[in-house]
Amino acid sequence: MPPPVFRFAPSPNGHLHLGHAYSALLNFDRAQETGGRLLLRIEDIDATRCRPEFEAAIYEDLAWLGIAWDTPVRRQSEHLADYRAALAKLAALGLVYSAFESRAEIARVVAAREAGGPWPRDPDGAPLYPGDAKSLTASERSRLIDSGAPYALRLDMAEACRRVSGLSWNELGEGPDGERGVVAARPEAWGDVILARKETPTSYHLSVVVDDALQGVSEIVRGQDLFHATSVHRLLQALLGLAEPIYRHHGLIRGADGRKLSKSDRSTGLRELRDAGVTAAGVRRLVGLDQVSLGVSQTPP
Ligand code: GLU
Repeated sequence: MPPPVFRFAPSPNGHLHLGHAYSALLNFDRAQETGGRLLLRIEDIDATRCRPEFEAAIYEDLAWLGIAWDTPVRRQSEHLADYRAALAKLAALGLVYSAFESRAEIARVVAAREAGGPWPRDPDGAPLYPGDAKSLTASERSRLIDSGAPYALRLDMAEACRRVSGLSWNELGEGPDGERGVVAARPEAWGDVILARKETPTSYHLSVVVDDALQGVSEIVRGQDLFHATSVHRLLQALLGLAEPIYRHHGLIRGADGRKLSKSDRSTGLRELRDAGVTAAGVRRLVGLDQVSLGVSQTPP
């Protein structure tokens, strides 16, 4: 058996906080315990929010925590051709369509539909795509594209689920409702997810599955906030013929108010804690990982 491969995959759109430290340390400890490799991936496809100074701060903060990773670091913005190729494969399967509604138009359609009762929402609480772009004729579609209109490329979820069904994944951690072991994937709960946009040939879902496969990631250790997204990831892996990793979702570090930490909250930022005199060992204690040997079997605070 080749050694397991782990990855920590932050987005450089802000400074890391205690929640990131917890996730990065779990990955690092797990790689150490298993003799595996830890990769670092910079998820910087959102050019409007990602900044080089945040990326530099990620390296600095992780090194301060005592985390070492394999190089080279994969920066998603440098691999758009890989995502374009995967998108082309899904398009060739007839599973991708362009949709031209703006966010505001979508919100208006959802509000109108909700007059007749609740409109379904995805596991993150966002309304499912309510539009009918799937049924545009080829000539209407090319007229809109030729007019320069912006568009999103969406997955035809109903058709994708007809092609591959009965998907599941092996969960070594725990979902938000205690799910563990073999978990049935429910990608249909997400509706026609966005795979790419006119100006960006990818999305979070598409690039994460392409990269995990290309980098040979075998065990994905990440926060429970991404547990339900795994259903979409399993679907894309099956459609693209990619290897299936195992998953270990961990609990989230929460603020004093019980909410998920945010990059804009300074009190839990690693830089702020460091400036206040907290050590790397102190960060481990704060996230409940002071007994390194317990690794991921430790329950989060
Ligand atoms: N880039 C994502 C984030 O910062 C994590 C992606 C993943 O672990 O799948 O939340």
